[in-house]
This record gives sequence, structure tokens and C-alpha cells, in this order.
Amino acid sequence: MDGETLAAPAALAGDGRPLSGKVALVTGSTSGIGLGIATALAAAGADIVLNGLGQARDIDQLTGSLVAAHGVRVRFDSADMTRPEQIRKMIGMATSTFGAVDILVNNAGIQHTAPVETFPDDRWDAILAINLSAAFHAIKTALPGMRQRGWGRIVNIASAHGLVASAQKAGYVAAKHGLVGLTKVVAIEAANTGVTCNAICPGWVLTPLVQKQIDAKALAEGIAVEQAAAAMLREKQPMLRFTTSEQLASLALFLCSDGAATITGTALPMDGGWVAQ
Ligand code: NAD
Repeated sequence: MDGETLAAPAALAGDGRPLSGKVALVTGSTSGIGLGIATALAAAGADIVLNGLGQARDIDQLTGSLVAAHGVRVRFDSADMTRPEQIRKMIGMATSTFGAVDILVNNAGIQHTAPVETFPDDRWDAILAINLSAAFHAIKTALPGMRQRGWGRIVNIASAHGLVASAQKAGYVAAKHGLVGLTKVVAIEAANTGVTCNAICPGWVLTPLVQKQIDAKALAEGIAVEQAAAAMLREKQPMLRFTTSEQLASLALFLCSDGAATITGTALPMDGGWVAQ
């Protein structure tokens, strides 16, 4: 939990893995895509700051299993992504504990669906805060250190909804389009500093965030959950299968590699053909 750093066995530190010696902070990494990315970065040797909501016992188990499996240092911070001062504090904690934030993955996100006329004000505010403003505050706080060290990777988890729209998703589509815009500005401003900033735009990924939408559709239409999932895929994706968190993590990992040093300001779909249409 907050305040406790689980340490890597000394024998495994500095072992030549591609991200050995780097520190990665992944927001919203207690579940789904963020957890997949944090796991892949840990496997590549990075020390990890986990963040997100969840039960203390589950989070302890998560940090323990990352340390045991990958021999990196792991720290959890419970910063609420709607609270800029908590985001700043988390980055301060990461820097004082591990010496830097080299990789920042802005992943925390929520969803709410409703027509724009009845879209609840508080859901609009929360979606904008968590899916967009949190990334602004985190980047603003972490970028100076990256510039100073001449190396950094910022990966923003946007969405196919950062590139195209769907009905009933005013808050989400506005936030994700905004995140793609923010990605471009940061990329341009940091262009010659060794820091890259990119967005990943997933299509459907079977995580708790999407399971809720599948369950709601099944309930509303009186169909089986499997039928609802298949219908959601058919509606948007030529490729009728979910992308996995592991597949997204391998793209994030590539963006953190030297091979991706000149990829910046992009919004990369991994969406089964969703935005090709
Ligand atoms: P998820 O619900 O499994 O995970 C969301 C994470 O964000 C969790 O760790 C949760 O605890 C955290 N979170 C939520 N509110 C928070 C808050 N106030 N403060 C701190 N953490 C908070 O969802 P997911 O599908 O893994 O989504 C991750 C990201 O991927 C989101 O930005 C989402 O918009 C995006 N995305 C998901 C899909 C998909 O199909 N699942 C598609 C495109 C984009």
C-alpha cells in the first residue's frame, strides 16, 4: 500500500534488460490495460509505480507478485486522478523514492454512456478530469525531469474514440480527442529533448470497463452476455475479436524502446480495423 516499497532482490537489479534502471509510472494500473502495461514494463526491467482504485489486499498481492516475477522495485500510490495535487504528490513520491520518472503512462480512465441531453454533469466532469486533465497534470509535473535527463517516454492511452465518435459517449469522445491533441502538443514541444509523447488508440479490449457495457447491453436487449459481446464487436470492428491487454502492452513497450526514438506525436490505433472504415 502507500508508503511501502517492495524491493527487488539485489542480484536481479541492473541485469541488462531493455528498461533496467528506468522508472515507469502507470496510472490506473490496478486493472485491465494499465495492469498489462505495468506488467510488461516490469518484465522489461523497469521499476514500477502502480496507481489506481482497489482493495488493499488485492493491491498488496499485485505488488508482491510483480516483485516476485520480475525482480524490480514496485511502489503503489493511491492518488485519485481527479485531484491534481494528489497527481503532483505521486510524481514527487516516485522521484524521491526511485530518483526519476522516465516513463509515464497515462492510462486511468472511466466511461459513462448517455445521450448528450441527459448526460449527467458530474459524469462529464469526472470523465474529463480522469481521462484528460489527469494526463495534463501528470505530464506537466513529470516532463521537466525527463528533459533534464535527456530521455523520457510518455504514452497516453487514448482510444479509437480519440479518432472517431460513437453515439452516447459525449464525455469519453471529447476527452479522448482532447488527449490525442495534448499528445501532439507535448510531442512538438519536447521534440529535441529525447522525450517522445504518443497516444495508443485501442478498439475493444475485454476489461472491466467494457464488461460493464456488455452487461448493460445484454440486460437492455434481453440477450445473453456472449451475444451482447459479439454484437458490440460486429457494430464497430471488422476484426471480430478483442485486442488483449498483453498486445497493447507490447506496443507500449515498443514505444519505450530506442527503436521508437523518432516516433512522436502519433495516435496509433490497435483496433481490429475500427477506424479504417
Ligand atoms: P479498467 O476499468 O479495467 O481500468 C481502469 C483503471 O483506472 C483501474 O485501475 C482503475 O482503478 C483506474 N481508475 C479509475 N478511476 C480512477 C481514479 N479516479 N483515480 C485513479 N485511478 C482510477 O479499464 P481499461 O479498459 O483497462 O481502461 C484503461 C484505459 O484504456 C482507459 O483510459 C480507457 O479509456 C482506455 N481504453 C479502453 C478500451 C477497452 O476496450 N477496454 C478501449 C479503448 C481505450
